[in-house]
Amino acid sequence: MRQRHKPWADDFLKENTNLIIPNPYDKKGKWQDYFGNDNPIHLEIGTGKGQFIAGMATQHPDVNFIGIELAKSIIVMAGSKVKEAGRDNVLLLHVDAADLNGLFADNEISTLYLNFSDPWPKKRHAKRRLTFHTFLEQYRHILQPDGEVVLKTDNQGLFEYSLVSFSQFGLALKDVTLDLHSIEDPENVMTEYEERFSAKGQPIYRCRAQFSQ
Ligand code: SAM
Repeated sequence: MRQRHKPWADDFLKENTNLIIPNPYDKKGKWQDYFGNDNPIHLEIGTGKGQFIAGMATQHPDVNFIGIELAKSIIVMAGSKVKEAGRDNVLLLHVDAADLNGLFADNEISTLYLNFSDPWPKKRHAKRRLTFHTFLEQYRHILQPDGEVVLKTDNQGLFEYSLVSFSQFGLALKDVTLDLHSIEDPENVMTEYEERFSAKGQPIYRCRAQFSQ
């Protein structure tokens, strides 16, 4: 995603520590306490500008959402979107998703979303793909025993790779679609990338992959 320097980003982070959480590693195992309820926690990795998480949080007020985004200039845009939507069931973490086991205790998350993740098409970069087996190993820990990974992408190569990776890891594939927008799913919340690619006529791939109980 294109990043532009945003002079207001540091001020936004300082002024919104209740939304974009400083020192999130301190909260491992205590996220529900932090939300102040015992609602399930859904996690999005690579939240981008926040359209999905803000929309999902509005559609599902009884779910707590956590979004992880690496880029400062982008997470502040997600923060603005969540504030605009007036949601209190969203927290954002300005961190790299590399150490999820440092952020979350075993079984702390019930659903994990990967939306239009960077495809890293070169073979030598395969280990950076968010569906590489080392990431799946982390997801297995932080997700509840029957937890799901929900993947959406426009990238055929990443989708094919991910289906194989999920399957080799023993996850059950569900609702695999090669053209999400050809089916009626009134609950689908579009991401920024999804809007952009589908406007160009590109099909959107989606699947749910469930760890076994
Ligand atoms: N999910 C959004 C959407 O669908 O519109 C953004 C998609 S964009 C291609 C991928 C996003 O993931 C970027 O904002 C990038 O900064 C973020 N990202 C990539 N690797 C990440 C990582 N290891 N940890 C956290 N965020 C990451």
